[in-house]
Amino acid sequence: MSDQPQRRRGAETSQRRIRSASSLRLCASASKTRSRFSQRSVVEPLGYPHHRLRFLLIVAIAIALLSPMSIRGTVTKRKILYVTHSAGFKHSVLPLSQQILKEIGDRSGLFEVTSTEDLSAITDEGLKPYAAIVFYTTGELPITDEQKNALMDFIKSGKAFIGIHSATDTFYKWAEYGEMIGGYFDQHPWHQEVAVKVEDRKHPATRHLGQSFKITDEIYQFKQWDRGKVHVLLSLDVNSVDLTKPNVHRTDKDFALAWCREYGRGRVFYTALGHRTEVWKDERFQQMLIGALRWATRS
Ligand SMILES: [Zn+2]
Repeated sequence: MSDQPQRRRGAETSQRRIRSASSLRLCASASKTRSRFSQRSVVEPLGYPHHRLRFLLIVAIAIALLSPMSIRGTVTKRKILYVTHSAGFKHSVLPLSQQILKEIGDRSGLFEVTSTEDLSAITDEGLKPYAAIVFYTTGELPITDEQKNALMDFIKSGKAFIGIHSATDTFYKWAEYGEMIGGYFDQHPWHQEVAVKVEDRKHPATRHLGQSFKITDEIYQFKQWDRGKVHVLLSLDVNSVDLTKPNVHRTDKDFALAWCREYGRGRVFYTALGHRTEVWKDERFQQMLIGALRWATRS
């Protein structure tokens, strides 16, 4: 089931709140005038009528309650489920990644991140509270066919899937997963500083990165991947690596490092970066993840 009508209702409510806040802000300037007037009036021999003081007090309380600060405070954070189950290689960066994703979600004021290795939440009911599911996983995750359907239905219904690094080193035996995420890991020919081309400088996930940047990380190569099926956001500048290494398989020399796509009514984002501790601590990477979450959850 889609939650679009509910979100629309939510958006309408916030628009109403913002409209009423704007009119209150106008009231606020008016009340300042009255307040200055009232200060002058207090010293007047006749004093100030009590009912006007009560009115000013009520206006002041209303302004305080509906100020932009409190509007921000009432925004319901989108719930994000961060799945870090490793059925294959277990990355040592996972605990740090859990901490950082939670921190940057909190800092954005938009996302409440729950991390888990437990896959039992992947059911129709279990996923209902979440706007997005984030995978930093490996191997054939032990879930049932019913759970697999629940995951795909979740995305296709208009929710979000974010894959980080080894999310493409996951579910090789489940073709629909590979199709959804866009491809599979095929070794990492390089682990070094590389130059990265920013192919989309307007996307919320990558617009802060400039035309290109350098980063040190484990650099993936993909199989069953075709840039015609996804929208590439970042790609490897092949001039910065040795293409003659024996484990370089791609003859087209096309190594994307982040991409996005629509899947059903949902949105999918994937980045191959995120192996190293330093990458997770890198503000550029953190901002990319928040941008990706904002884009994928339409926040
Ligand atoms: Zn890795």
